[in-house]
Amino acid sequence: MKNTKYVFVTGGVTSSLGKGIIAASLAKLLQERGYSVTIQKLDPYINIDPGTLNPYEHGECYVTDDGAETDLDLGHYERFLNIPTSQANNVTTGRIYQSVIDKERKGEFLGKTVQVIPHITDEIKHRVQILGNTGEFDIVITEIGGTVGDIESLPYVESVRQLLWELGHENAIVIHLTLVPYLAAAGELKTKPTQHSVKMLMQSGVSPDILVCRTEHEISDSIKSKLALFCNVKKEDVIQSIDAETIYDVPNLMLDENLDLVVLKKLQLPQDKQPELKVWNEFLSKFKNPKYTVEIGLIGKYVELKDAYKSISEAFIHAGAQNEVQVNINWIHSEGLTVENVPNKLKKLNGILVAPGFGERGIEGKIAAVKYARENNIPFLGICLGMQMAVIEFSRNVLGLADANSSEMNNNTKNPVIDLMEEQKSITNYGGTMRLGAWDCKLKENSKIKNIYKKENISERHRHRYEFNSSYLKQIENAGMIATGKNPKTDLVEVIEIPSHPWFIGVQYHPEYKSTVLNPHPLFVDFVKASLEHSLN
Ligand code: GLN
Repeated sequence: MKNTKYVFVTGGVTSSLGKGIIAASLAKLLQERGYSVTIQKLDPYINIDPGTLNPYEHGECYVTDDGAETDLDLGHYERFLNIPTSQANNVTTGRIYQSVIDKERKGEFLGKTVQVIPHITDEIKHRVQILGNTGEFDIVITEIGGTVGDIESLPYVESVRQLLWELGHENAIVIHLTLVPYLAAAGELKTKPTQHSVKMLMQSGVSPDILVCRTEHEISDSIKSKLALFCNVKKEDVIQSIDAETIYDVPNLMLDENLDLVVLKKLQLPQDKQPELKVWNEFLSKFKNPKYTVEIGLIGKYVELKDAYKSISEAFIHAGAQNEVQVNINWIHSEGLTVENVPNKLKKLNGILVAPGFGERGIEGKIAAVKYARENNIPFLGICLGMQMAVIEFSRNVLGLADANSSEMNNNTKNPVIDLMEEQKSITNYGGTMRLGAWDCKLKENSKIKNIYKKENISERHRHRYEFNSSYLKQIENAGMIATGKNPKTDLVEVIEIPSHPWFIGVQYHPEYKSTVLNPHPLFVDFVKASLEHSLN
């Protein structure tokens, strides 16, 4: 049983400073020093989870092995740390209130008035300590979403105040991430916004132990001294976080600034083992010195917001580095694509990925992109909805079932080649009711996919409601599209491929969620390799 220590990360001045990346980078350094670390994100919104949020709101919904629909920061945690997260790693205000209200309905508060303090804060403190109480972790890093001063963040900051007091200063500390803006007209970095945001935190009874300052320019010694003086921290505890070329540079930048060292000192933990980052730096050097370039089209309907496809674009970074290839993602809106314009719009691509998604908008464009890839021997990867579109395209244009569709898009189609599972038909609630999380899949002998994974049994994460309709399987296979991965228990089709095409694979699951720096996903690695071959031909 470990005596778990806690690090809280709060944000000041503005959102989007990259708390998730700072938390993940610190965790990486501590992990390299031999500590077992996990990261948790507390989100102050009222949704129970981001599963029902439009991707335009907060970007992609990340899915864990245990089927939790979570904030995309959990993807960064897994990609940096190479260890899985779970539902316990992401908690929202909605979930906190739901548990408290459920307890109230069960009479668990024995007639007391239920209040923000202590009932909501107790629930927050309980959620923060769930991971720590497993005894698995030396250090739990808890990222508080939002910005200090927001009304909805108040109960979280209050919970942090109570926990600091209860756990003791050698067991719990606060890192405040803030912005030090550069005023071009004055030619100066400004400390005032940081002073104000620290003051705001202090008014809530929390005094930061470490300041991490986001900046576009080097922060001088005198500015560090000034920040230390005004914000009640030591100068060595003012850490510069300068803009980086890639998020994967941040662990090294934090190492240079001694962030891990000052954290360990404050938590009174041994600091003897130096972080090596050997494999990490090998990845970085390959990523920064590519020998080739490939153009991959990402066909989706949320492409205006690249965060909506975060895990996919990161998986391409890992797979690109592995192949020593620079992957240029061409973000292509599916709504603008037609059978007539794809030859022109997609002509420079070496690989085509049709992205996951929900609903009707843009699907005819996705189908046109599949057709173009299939007919022109361009490497094709369809993920979830992308796989479903590949099945529809094949049924329409090869089998001749002109009205083939998914019942998600057309409930009256005579040929629902993609359909709802029986057990989904009676479900009316939208939240958390899809096929979610890790499911087993058995790969077929001599298939491309089995060659890629180099094993027969795999487990991948899912997030969808509709499925390949197995009553069409025979016809589809006879025409040349083969189901090469199936769920061993339910027999549901999880992978399709076209053996006569150089590289055409559709997967009902989401491989992108499991790609990490240390373990680039084999499917992405092979897709990039096939795209490279296409580019060299
Ligand atoms: N909308 C499809 C379904 O629910 C695909 C979902 C997805 O791409 N994640 O089955």
